[in-house]
Amino acid sequence: MPLHTRMLIGFVVGIVGGILANIYATDSVWLAPFIEYVTDPVGQIFLRLLFMLVVPLVFSALVLGVSEIGDIRTLGRIGRRTLLWIVLVTGIAVTIGYLMVTTFQPGRGLPPEVAEQLQIENAATVGAKLERAADVTGIDLLVRIVPDNPLRSAVQGDLIGVMFFGLLVGIAIVVLRTDGTRSFLGMVQGLYEICILLIDWIIKLAPWAVAALLFTLTARLGYDVLAQLGRFVLVVAGGLAIHMFVVFPLLLKLLGKTNPIAFFRAARPAILTALSTSSSSATLPTTLMVAEENLGIPHYVGRFVCTLGATANMNGTALFEGVTVLFLAQFFGVELAFSQQIMILLLCVFGSIGAAGVPGGSLPVIAMIMTMFGIPAEGIGIILGVDRLLDALRTTINVTGDLAGSMVIARFEDPQHAGATTMTES
Ligand code: ASP
Repeated sequence: MPLHTRMLIGFVVGIVGGILANIYATDSVWLAPFIEYVTDPVGQIFLRLLFMLVVPLVFSALVLGVSEIGDIRTLGRIGRRTLLWIVLVTGIAVTIGYLMVTTFQPGRGLPPEVAEQLQIENAATVGAKLERAADVTGIDLLVRIVPDNPLRSAVQGDLIGVMFFGLLVGIAIVVLRTDGTRSFLGMVQGLYEICILLIDWIIKLAPWAVAALLFTLTARLGYDVLAQLGRFVLVVAGGLAIHMFVVFPLLLKLLGKTNPIAFFRAARPAILTALSTSSSSATLPTTLMVAEENLGIPHYVGRFVCTLGATANMNGTALFEGVTVLFLAQFFGVELAFSQQIMILLLCVFGSIGAAGVPGGSLPVIAMIMTMFGIPAEGIGIILGVDRLLDALRTTINVTGDLAGSMVIARFEDPQHAGATTMTES
């Protein structure tokens, strides 16, 4: 049975099992221990296995991607196109979010006592998030792109720092072709190949892990929160669905000359991994595998775009950030002038580039934007209960956007790139 079918079965088993457990067994003696000792650890181990590969993969994929591009002019061209794709498509995403949240006004329908209750329940978690938000103020975001110590960035999992270093090393290798740089490149190539083999092994566990992760998620997610925040959830999910099923297919068709359905089929392993891990970084190994093996995207494009994209190209996150900030502003009755709203949307584009590709990575950015506009940042507590679910959805859009971007850029690089005809499924 192909991998994606097994993952899909795990997915359905996890969701259905979790929902049934949530309805019928919330108070049973077995559910809490089952989650604590079985499904949660299984899911966590899988996540950690994926995260284990991220730093070596980001470094080796970028160094190889850049050095395979071969000359600085081509690199500049692909870099510009990638940047253009990120800004353009993220811009479309925040616009969709904006239109949805101003049309449906979900923040005006929420009873204040419900919101207060949610805020009290989540106060502790919010405190921790806000502390992290204090870390990411304004200009710091820019300065911290440059690592003062790439090894420390690697140790701390600061991927932007690792990427910056990897990009520079790759560029240096393009410029300087000596025996020394060639043998270093050989080593990096070896590291990359090892990572890809490891991911091939790890991904075999995915069907089980996907079931475990989704069981944990749905069994814990109370329906009460979902019902209370129903309109907010629907607005976010609706916006994400439009981006996924209208914007991506149009871009793929018009710019990528690719059949969207074949694309989605080939992308399934990455989509399912994103849905169950809620982390673009943890999905990166699968994303790279899908780009190379299923979508037939040339190495130098896929490695470059997907690796950068895992933290910098987050369409779903940008949409979510915009909707959430405006939703909470509506709820707290903070009136924002049109210019302020546009400012918030722009910040969401940058905020999505700066957000880490980990579960809940956008929450500190949201807190920062809210503080800037005088919206009580503690209000994040209101949406925390449903964030796990929305995180899964937005991460899926983020990862799909990386693959769609690679597809389109590959087409521009090489018009012969056969797109759909080279796609296979795994
Ligand atoms: N979880 C998201 C990702 O990894 C980031 C976020 O929006 O929280 O892509």
